[in-house]
Amino acid sequence: MNAPILTCTGCGHTKDAPTGDPTDLFPSEHCGDCPPWTCADCGQICSAQALCGCWIRLDTMAAADIKALFAADGGFHITPKA
Ligand SMILES: [Zn+2]
Ligand SMILES: [Zn+2]
Repeated sequence: MNAPILTCTGCGHTKDAPTGDPTDLFPSEHCGDCPPWTCADCGQICSAQALCGCWIRLDTMAAADIKALFAADGGFHITPKA
C-alpha cells in the first residue's frame, strides 16, 4: 500500500513519495518548492532558506513530540527539509 501523497497548501506542490518527515502525515503550509511568502504572524518575508523566527525547528524535536503538536493544533507550520 502506498502512503497518502500530500499536497502543500502553500504552493500546491505534491510530493512524489513519502519523505519520512511530518509532511507525510499532514499537509505542509509551505515546502521547499514554495516561493517566498509573507509570514502571517510577524509579517516578515520567509522562504525555505530563510525562515522567520516564528518557525519551530521540528528537526530538533522527537517524532512523538511532533505528532503531539500536530494532534493539538491541526494547522501548524512545518519546517521543510532543505
Ligand atoms: Zn509548497
Ligand atoms: Zn513569522
